[in-house]
Amino acid sequence: MKDRAPAIHDMSASEIEALLREWRQPAYRARQIYRQLYAQLAAAPGEMSDLPAALRERLAQEVRFNELELDRVQTGDGGLTRKALFRVNGGPPVEAVLMIYRDRATVCVSTQSGCAMACRFCATGRMGFRLNLTAGQMVEQVLWAAREARAAPAPGKPLLTNVVYMGMGEPFNNYDRWWASVERLHDPEGFNLGARNFTVSTVGIVPGILRLAREKLPVNLALSLHAPDDELRSQLVPVNRKYPVAEVIEAVREYTDKTSRRVSFEYVLLQGVNDQPARAQALARLLKGTATRPGVRLCHVNLIPWNPVPGEPLKPSERQRVLDFQAALERHRIACTVRVQRGVDIAAACGQLAGGVQ
Ligand code: SAH
Repeated sequence: MKDRAPAIHDMSASEIEALLREWRQPAYRARQIYRQLYAQLAAAPGEMSDLPAALRERLAQEVRFNELELDRVQTGDGGLTRKALFRVNGGPPVEAVLMIYRDRATVCVSTQSGCAMACRFCATGRMGFRLNLTAGQMVEQVLWAAREARAAPAPGKPLLTNVVYMGMGEPFNNYDRWWASVERLHDPEGFNLGARNFTVSTVGIVPGILRLAREKLPVNLALSLHAPDDELRSQLVPVNRKYPVAEVIEAVREYTDKTSRRVSFEYVLLQGVNDQPARAQALARLLKGTATRPGVRLCHVNLIPWNPVPGEPLKPSERQRVLDFQAALERHRIACTVRVQRGVDIAAACGQLAGGVQ
């Protein structure tokens, strides 16, 4: 029985209403449940104190909660970074990272366990693909982070303000479920997170970028570029052979044309590999192609000093090379920031998520 029951976080408000109708419960009960899940952040029926005991019992019996099992939480940066390791059915690992800042709190969410993209410098890529997460499993990661942010002992701390799909996996290889999770979390009747508070990062899956350009909710797009030329990019990011740089840039251009939203380009800096002055020049030239009108450049470059991955001989660029690369882009009036890393000590930084596989 319980195996065939739906997972609660995969159900929309109207699906919960339909289920409660089947149970001959009044409609306001469905709304209570939905509010418990997404406003009160109840993790289990037992916490839904405004429901009659019999209904809590029935929910617990017939509807699945916690499709992700929390295995452990590690904290770094003095408690301001928290990484959760979850498992699906006791097996495939899924990680989420909460980062608390003075004025905001961001959760980095996984869309798959593992990843099939095999980017040379990424720990998740080395672990290979395990499975696609459901929308509900993505939503559960966000609700975990929201509960943690609420419980964090810092005075005046922010509640969860941003969701970035930058954990394990390639979101656009799991597009429908990924988008369903955005719609759920955006729902003003529930979690109510503004569309602009979501960011999705892609390795450059062109059909996904074009699809996002047509969506109604204006979520932010980040693109993992890492090299301006096909020769090097194909070595670092193998899917570049399928979707080469020019096609990716063209798709981004279509996205900026349609949405007028600025795109972030992520660029992991690897000493002596992609951090030469000539590559900074080539990158600047390439990004000029994203301008929709002369002088309006809807792009921003995030430089990420590479985070070491066990067994990988690559090296992060030295500080001076990072600064030189940044200065070269700025000379071409390309907006550019060096990403401040969080969670390196607990293997929670960009590209380090592998569920303890290493
Ligand atoms: N598959 C998506 C989502 C992953 S996001 C994508 O490729 O965009 C994770 C970001 O961290 C990507 O920009 C990725 O290229 C980058 N990254 C991967 N490994 C890294 C590492 N070891 N150090 C720093 N950044 C890394």
